Amino acid sequence: MRKLLFILILIGLAFSCNTTIERKSSELPTVSNLAQWPNVVMYEIFVQSFVDSDGDSIGDIKGMMSKLDYLQDLGIKGIWLMPIMPSPSYHKYDVTDYYNIHPDYGDLDIFKEFVQEAHKRDIKVVIDMIINHSSNQHPWFLDSKSGENTEKRDYYIWANDEEIRRFSTHEKKITGDSGNLTQWHEAEDNDKKFYGFFTGMMPDLNFDNPKVRQEVVTIGKFWLEEVGVDGFRLDAAKHIYEDSRVKDNQEWWKVYRSELEAFKPDNYLVGEVWDNSEFVAPFLHGLPALFNFDLAFSMLESIKREKSVSAYISKHSWEVDDSTTFEAGYKKNQAIYLNETEDYHDAIFLSNHDQNRILSVLDRDINKGKLAASMLLTMPGTPYLYYGEEIGMLGMKPDPNIREPFLWKDAQNDTERAKWINSEYSLESTVDPLSRQMEDSLSIFNHYKSLIRIRNTSKALSFGDFTQANYGNSSVISYYRKKDNEQLLIIHNLSDRHISIQLKDTDAGLTNTLFSTWGETVKNRQIDLEAYSSIILN
Ligand code: CA
Repeated sequence: MRKLLFILILIGLAFSCNTTIERKSSELPTVSNLAQWPNVVMYEIFVQSFVDSDGDSIGDIKGMMSKLDYLQDLGIKGIWLMPIMPSPSYHKYDVTDYYNIHPDYGDLDIFKEFVQEAHKRDIKVVIDMIINHSSNQHPWFLDSKSGENTEKRDYYIWANDEEIRRFSTHEKKITGDSGNLTQWHEAEDNDKKFYGFFTGMMPDLNFDNPKVRQEVVTIGKFWLEEVGVDGFRLDAAKHIYEDSRVKDNQEWWKVYRSELEAFKPDNYLVGEVWDNSEFVAPFLHGLPALFNFDLAFSMLESIKREKSVSAYISKHSWEVDDSTTFEAGYKKNQAIYLNETEDYHDAIFLSNHDQNRILSVLDRDINKGKLAASMLLTMPGTPYLYYGEEIGMLGMKPDPNIREPFLWKDAQNDTERAKWINSEYSLESTVDPLSRQMEDSLSIFNHYKSLIRIRNTSKALSFGDFTQANYGNSSVISYYRKKDNEQLLIIHNLSDRHISIQLKDTDAGLTNTLFSTWGETVKNRQIDLEAYSSIILN
């Protein structure tokens, strides 16, 4: 009953604020060309679940191409595609052919056309590059396991039981990720076992073999030069060598970067190094963009706890440090990065294909989802949206359920919807399809769209620095973003209650509202912010 009352109040608010928000939107410049690659908003796509163009139930490149106008209109200027190469698995993180497109998705010709069409719309294309391991059905591995003296034997890591034992006492004779014996797998007709960090379906490539290093550079060259992509997202980037060889891992990425930059100087590399900022920072020399996991969990935990806290990746998952505010934690991590290099592009996100969907984590509360978006899209770096995040798609592990089909229209009209899986979370009873949300000025979709538009038209949001503003109490997050003459003050109310904030004397000039969740404005230097609401002032 209380929930119903709350919803009714929200509906009332929605109607009362409707006109304000629409008026605000129309005042914005229509040309959004201030954001520049790679300081742009990116969009991660699982092709299989995005758009099905031919009715075979599986999303494909042709379908995705038909949505480039949609992405352009949303303000997206870069796409990260989850794996598109041939693979026996639905997720395709185990490749059997590094020079082709999975037949379910299309072929190289249609993909080249897709890249060209994206470029026409000022959208860059970054593809997942899985080189830590291949599929166990890759011809290299089939050759490698066929005998001890075959041509590709040393493309992978083989060891007998004694060598594995020695490895587990940390003598480091063999390349692998840990002494965990379950990561060594048996292969038929082989006395030795092979190393596969994730599973036996994914044998790790042997990066101590110069031929392997050359192969993966040649693969990169092919996609950059022949196909025309703009860069790669490097999967499992911390696992190239075993954990004890962290320096070797960092050195390898420097080599990879310089090899690729030799024939494409503006090549973009974004790495997945799932760890805390201190561990991640030294990787920036080889991978100048790295996903900021600490920031992702700091945003989520602050929203969940309705309190400004920082979080960091720990040994098993992540931990919360509630004695350090979100803002202070961010500054601390930024300092760790800057201490390493200024030449980096922070890759920021709320969730990705490996994590429960953001709105499921936030109790399916659309207002908290909007708050999360407001935080993500006002922080420095390159924000990554996970497809469907903009319509509030839901999903909890196991993995296929965080990768469910995008809901374009109501089911009876949705010929483009992929159907390779029966969705359990993102159903029409739980998520409004895009077509309905487009018509609703207060939908989460229009919230995302407005924020992206503002970010794209703001130098301060796209490139500006970040300083703490220290407003309000522990349930408020506030910061300045500044670039040249443009200064913004951003305030988020994390609490479930309305709050009043008095602007400081030094901020008295910040009276214009660039954006606010419910149409709030400044009156006599006072801001009344609704629950889970955000405001951007200039
Ligand atoms: Ca299809």
